[in-house]
Amino acid sequence: MAGLKKTIIRGGLETLYFSGLYQAMRPLVGGLGAILTLHHVRPARPDAFQPNRLLEVTPDFFERLLKRLRRARLDLISLDEMHARLIAGKFRRRFVCITFDDGYKDFKEHAYSLLKKYEAPFTLYIPTSFPDRIGELWWVGLEAAIAKSNRIGLVINGKDQFFDCATVKEKRQLYDEVYRYLRSMKDEEELRRIVRDLCACQGIDVLSFARELCMSWEEIAELAGDPLCTIGAHTVNHLMLRKIASDATVRAEMEMSRAVLEAALGRRPEHLAYPVGDPTSAGPREFRIAAELGFKTAATTRPGVIFKVHRDHLTALPRISVNGEFQRQRYLKVLMSGAGTAFWNGFRRVNAA
Ligand SMILES: [Zn+2]
Repeated sequence: MAGLKKTIIRGGLETLYFSGLYQAMRPLVGGLGAILTLHHVRPARPDAFQPNRLLEVTPDFFERLLKRLRRARLDLISLDEMHARLIAGKFRRRFVCITFDDGYKDFKEHAYSLLKKYEAPFTLYIPTSFPDRIGELWWVGLEAAIAKSNRIGLVINGKDQFFDCATVKEKRQLYDEVYRYLRSMKDEEELRRIVRDLCACQGIDVLSFARELCMSWEEIAELAGDPLCTIGAHTVNHLMLRKIASDATVRAEMEMSRAVLEAALGRRPEHLAYPVGDPTSAGPREFRIAAELGFKTAATTRPGVIFKVHRDHLTALPRISVNGEFQRQRYLKVLMSGAGTAFWNGFRRVNAA
């Protein structure tokens, strides 16, 4: 994320917090509860170049969050329970659901024991190609390639282009630019090819990250046996679905991942999260297909809290990202009050376009 944008978001959150405005807004914008999104939970690393740091929080931060949620007057519930409450219209207490995307190993090392300690239900959204060890964590590959070299070459629009990235500043800038360029591409095949080639030039196997960072099927199965755990689908190949031309492929990505998880774990997943999950990755077609496939809920990464009207948009649910760039409990207080995301969404409650 660009520095300026970060500063503005942080400034906005600080203003909402210190002005107390977020508390005043709560009855208006707070909704019924929130679904939180996390990725990695692991100790901070010293490296100066960590463009994906927004995807991780420290175990200490995570424990403070759980402690605070437990003290608050709200229920920590599973997605099934949230779904049941939405359908029944039972909203006596605010709720929070905790979800983790991608199934990283550090979940087991650092987050799981804390969730048990605080008896907090959680959902793991698993892209099945990750434990199958054929998934490409391309954003990690891009980081590794830029971290490793002083100069990289990319084939862009059929032309070789070279970029210096010797200093941390250059690396950060280059990562941001290449990331933005890749994300803006209409075709994810091309994105994957560029990162695969880039990694190959640096002697990096882009498939090594799934092995290194993601849980194995055995590890997932062990967690799946815990009543606190819900396993959710996160497609097979972790593609930005909205960019896929064929409806049948989108459907297959969702359906196949559910079938593979059911075969591996003995239980059919009833909840889905769209990979990446922002409006460029999941839109009305994806919301419709997920509903047609019978998923009880499907979660985006569009920021927001849950309102009564989401009962009619169960496959387009917003979430609140627990972002490693904003590891302050007060930022989360503001976000979960609904005040931060209300501004973001221009006070629209449902954003399903
Ligand atoms: Zn994901």
